[in-house]
Amino acid sequence: MSRQKRYWTVVSVILIWLGVLLTGCTLEGWEMAGERSGNASLPSEAEGEGELRVLFLDVGQGASQLLISPSGYTMLIDAGNNDKEDEMLRYLEAYGIRHLDLVIGTHPDADHIGGLDRVIDQLDIGEVYMPKIQSNTKTFESLLTSIRDKGLKVKTAKAGLELTWDEQVQVKMLAPATVTDDNNNMSAVVKVTYRDTSFLLTGDAESESERVMLESGANLRADVLLVGHHGSKSSTTARFLNAVKPKYAIIQVGDNSYGHPTKTILGRLAKQKVEVYRNDLQGTVEIVSDGQGYQIMTER
Ligand SMILES: [Zn+2]
Repeated sequence: MSRQKRYWTVVSVILIWLGVLLTGCTLEGWEMAGERSGNASLPSEAEGEGELRVLFLDVGQGASQLLISPSGYTMLIDAGNNDKEDEMLRYLEAYGIRHLDLVIGTHPDADHIGGLDRVIDQLDIGEVYMPKIQSNTKTFESLLTSIRDKGLKVKTAKAGLELTWDEQVQVKMLAPATVTDDNNNMSAVVKVTYRDTSFLLTGDAESESERVMLESGANLRADVLLVGHHGSKSSTTARFLNAVKPKYAIIQVGDNSYGHPTKTILGRLAKQKVEVYRNDLQGTVEIVSDGQGYQIMTER
C-alpha cells in the first residue's frame, strides 16, 4: 500500500467513525447492509470508490434486473409477471428507489413486462425503451396506457444504440438487430461495461438473435451473463457462450412447467466452468463491481 493510500485509508476510517458518532448508526448495521439482503445500500460516503450494483431480483418465473450506477443513477430492465407487481414495488422501496432514469422492457412477454405498468405508475421515470414489436395482450396494452398516462414516449430498443446513463458506465444495446415477429428474438440485449467489468443482459433472446449478434461482429465478451430465456435450450448456443466467455452466469427462473433451466444448458455452462447463480435456489442475486472485480451476494 502506498503511503498516500494508507493516509487516505486512515482519514476515511476517522471520517467514518465521526459519521457513526454523529448519526448514531452502528458499524454493525452497515456491515449487515453491505452483506446484502434486500434492505439497504451502504451509505455512499462510506465507499472509497463508486460501485456498480446489478441486482437480479427474484421474481419467480420471470426476469427483472435493477442496476444502480457508481454515481447513483438507476435502471430497471423488466419487472416480472403481473402477479409480482407488489413485490416489485416493495423491492424498489427497499432499495430506496423512487426514480428510474432508464426503464427497458426487453420484449412484450408477461413474465418480463407484467409488473412494469405499476412501476411506471408509481415511480418517477426518465426514459423508456422497448423493441418495435406489438402484442395484443392486456398486459402489453396496460403497459402502454401507463406510459401514455405518465406523458412518456417509448424509444425504440435496437442494436447499435448507446444509452446515456452514467458517464463512467457504457450501456450498449446489441439486439434486436433484425425485425422478426418472434417476441423472444426481438428481445433487447444490453451490455453494461464499467471499467474492466462487464455484464450481458439478454432478455429471452434465442439462438436466432444470438446468431445475428455473432455475425454483427459486436464485442460480446462479458464476465457476467444473464442466461437467455431462463435457461431454455433454445438459447445460449455453444458458439454464443464461447464468444461471451462469462465467468458467472445468472439464471432468472422460478417454479415452471417448461423444464427451465434445462440440463443441456446447465451442462454447457458447467463444461465451460462458469459459476452459476439461480433465483429459484438462491433468491435475489446481487453483483457489485468496483470496476475491477466482483462481489457476489445471494439472498439464501
Ligand atoms: Zn421470459
